[in-house]
Amino acid sequence: MKFNIGDTVFHATFYPTTTKWVECPVCMGEGRVQVIYGGGKQASIACDYCSLGYTPPTGKVKIYAALAHAEPLVITGVELEAGGKERYNYIDSSELFKTKEEAFKRAEEKAEEYKKKEVARLKEKEKPNKSWSWHVGYHKREIKRLQKNIDQHQARLEAANLKAKS
Ligand SMILES: [Zn+2]
Repeated sequence: MKFNIGDTVFHATFYPTTTKWVECPVCMGEGRVQVIYGGGKQASIACDYCSLGYTPPTGKVKIYAALAHAEPLVITGVELEAGGKERYNYIDSSELFKTKEEAFKRAEEKAEEYKKKEVARLKEKEKPNKSWSWHVGYHKREIKRLQKNIDQHQARLEAANLKAKS
């Protein structure tokens, strides 16, 4: 057995509650996304992953960061599982250490794993290309529509100028 009842050990753990701002995984902090569509044409549009509602993109997103922690505890119970696995106070023996330093090192590993999972979770939320191409299509349609309006107003203004001159 790794430990005995009454031993003081350190549990490698972490607090997942701290919030932290990290670079947006979609635009890499640029705030804009390059889109390549039919015929290899490129467009750059504002990243709506890191913008909240109608505010401009910030290039940053909030994640739940993990704070490594070595928690001291006294062994009060031992469980021996089939296959030689040991559990103390319902905690797997691989998460318990004799020194605070060892426990903290493992806690930092766990915190790092948690952080990676958080970033992966953010990436899962990424919008598929279809959505980006929809955005490009929408902007192009809007430009075309507004350009038509501009042209009409321009033509009326020119007509008015001609009348004023004559
Ligand atoms: Zn972004």
